[in-house]
Amino acid sequence: MSEGASPPRRVSILGATGSIGRSTLDILRHAGPGAVEVVALTGRDNIAGLAEAAREFRAEVAVTADPSRYEDLKAALAGSGVEAAAGERAVIEAAARPADWTMAAIVGSAGLAPTLAALRQGRTLALANKECLVSAGGLFIEEAARAGAELLPVDSEHNAIFQVLDRPNRAAVEKILLTASGGPFRDWPAERIAEATPEEAVAHPNWDMGAKISIDSASMFNKGLEMIEAMHLFALRPDQVEVLVHPQSIVHSMVAYVDGAVLAQMGAPDMRHAIGHAFHHPARAPLPVERLDLAAIGALEFRAPDPVRFPALRLAREAMEAGGLAGCALNAAKEAALEAFMDRRLPFMGMAQVVEEVLSALSPFAPAGSLDDVFAMDALARAAAGERIAARIRASGLGKGAAFA
Ligand code: NAD
Ligand code: MG
Repeated sequence: MSEGASPPRRVSILGATGSIGRSTLDILRHAGPGAVEVVALTGRDNIAGLAEAAREFRAEVAVTADPSRYEDLKAALAGSGVEAAAGERAVIEAAARPADWTMAAIVGSAGLAPTLAALRQGRTLALANKECLVSAGGLFIEEAARAGAELLPVDSEHNAIFQVLDRPNRAAVEKILLTASGGPFRDWPAERIAEATPEEAVAHPNWDMGAKISIDSASMFNKGLEMIEAMHLFALRPDQVEVLVHPQSIVHSMVAYVDGAVLAQMGAPDMRHAIGHAFHHPARAPLPVERLDLAAIGALEFRAPDPVRFPALRLAREAMEAGGLAGCALNAAKEAALEAFMDRRLPFMGMAQVVEEVLSALSPFAPAGSLDDVFAMDALARAAAGERIAARIRASGLGKGAAFA
């Protein structure tokens, strides 16, 4: 380190082997020599990828969430000097190791406890995992304030809003406009969407993402989760959060002010932009992303979402208005339904139907007092969704091992 240079930043990545995790590693590669010291990298199934990243960045520790893969990980790290660990507890412990900047990119509600452990360090948390805010938004925001942590949104829409939010004039925000590509089924008729297969749902037109979030984009549950996420992150009322379909995915979101001004953030659809922004914030640094050629793009389109073909948006709004643990119930029922869809046990439109049934069966929703309340509701909503999925399979007369699509 040269004289006067700042010491390396200690960085951890939870979910380092996923789509966001790999993009984060790429941002670290571009940060320059000596800029970072990697503390913990976590993953689950992709042991070879986890070990390779841990060797490249000389991480202190690499952790797989799957305890049965401990020996594999240890063997893959042999001679590297990187410590190996395994199991859910070990992921949480790794998240609690002192780090200046942590990327929270575990998918789904499995990310809740590790992300909370990282947040409690009171340092900077770059938050990609949206389920934390959807399931336990109130708790996360309170914990961040208590710990003195800086919470930086990485979900591209929320990162865009963060960039154009006029903080000194925060009260002048009228509403936010979350843009949505509309996913692969944007222009499909309802009958065709009803028969969509997992392969069709996973093929996102603009963004290259993990399988679950890609399918959530096709159903627009992803945008529904993002509505709830935005409400918590930016302390908005449900009626201040709007969704706008924007097929080009160039405007990543907008903030509308009381004086009629609308501020938008634009960029190529590449998550390394939001990740890099969160990494360098409050500075700005060159990022390895494509530059926008607006003349070549020519036109940007916007339209209102279709509530009939995409009921997820209505369900999310109902959950926002219900408050308390409704977001947790929506997310858990959706995760159970999504798994059933991926296993061909549930047709595509069955996902929203199951979520709607679970929400109405479990309402009214109490506020979340602790993470235990969140886990209890998560389990309850998953079980309720499971029962409904099983009942549908029985009613269809297909029996065990039945497959849709
Ligand atoms: P992914 O499926 O590509 O990666 C998920 C990561 O989580 C992997 O490292 C995996 O090993 C780990 N993981 C999976 N199950 C786990 C478990 N039970 N315990 C511990 N670790 C586990 O997902 P992704 O697309 O990178 O998304 C990560 C998060 O970021 C999600 O919450 C997603 O909604 C959010 N997000 C993603 C994008 C995107 O472009 N991919 C954009 C915005 C927000
Ligand atoms: Mg997003």
